[in-house]
Amino acid sequence: MSDSEIVLLGTGSPLPDPNRAGPSTLIRGGISNVLCDAGRGVVMRLAAVGVIPPFLSGVILTHLHSDHISDLNDVITTYWVMSGEPTPLPIYGPAGTRDVVQGILDMLRPDISYRVAHHDDLLEGPQVEVHEVAAGDEFTVGDYRVVVGESNHRPVEPTVAYRCEREGVSIVLGGDGIPCESLDNLLIGADAYVQTVIREDLVKLVPRQRFQDILDYHSTVGQAADTAERAGVRTLVLTHYVPAPPLGHYDEWRELAGGFTGQLVMGDDLTTVTVAARG
Ligand SMILES: [Zn+2]
Ligand SMILES: [Zn+2]
Repeated sequence: MSDSEIVLLGTGSPLPDPNRAGPSTLIRGGISNVLCDAGRGVVMRLAAVGVIPPFLSGVILTHLHSDHISDLNDVITTYWVMSGEPTPLPIYGPAGTRDVVQGILDMLRPDISYRVAHHDDLLEGPQVEVHEVAAGDEFTVGDYRVVVGESNHRPVEPTVAYRCEREGVSIVLGGDGIPCESLDNLLIGADAYVQTVIREDLVKLVPRQRFQDILDYHSTVGQAADTAERAGVRTLVLTHYVPAPPLGHYDEWRELAGGFTGQLVMGDDLTTVTVAARG
């Protein structure tokens, strides 16, 4: 039996931050590496924990907002050029993922042609295996059994949450969104819950309507805490901080999550949580 780890590769958001990569989380255990979302700087953060793209078992996308996929092109290209032989990269995501991946491959067409022409052992471009998924689907990535649930990030649709299970451990990745019954159901009996959050009190101070608009489709810290408490999970991991606090300063955020009585984890990029295997 081996434990699973949750690595917060990128704790940032669309707002540029020199110290926080875009939204992406690594779930790993044994030799399995499941990448959830692929925000800005994801390949650099993966390298920091010793995971080059060919070590990935697959990518799971919660939704197609740009902050969650902006460096998927880097994952696809680096997976391709660093693999010793043609190996398909499995990519799972909601409806629309196939078009987005095809768009990335179209954008990479000049690069692909240069490399195929230059390297005799590269006979074709990146191999990707796209699976569009919906709530209720189940599939396997590496050693992880992955269950798909619906999330509520409306008006963005469709969006999904994932439950990753391996050796008795279950980790739910809520993605962006507000509390909903389907997320509650996905969380039943889970060990850990990773949720993207915003600070409602601070966002409300920003005198711009475009910023106010984000309030209705993101969980606040308190809502994430309440969801975690309702589900009885042992560990709540918060990420995608808007607006992001200075590195290492999470006390105010923690106070807002006071409704959760389990282990609360917040942190800078590369914060790692170990979830012990259950015999
Ligand atoms: Zn989003
Ligand atoms: Zn987001």
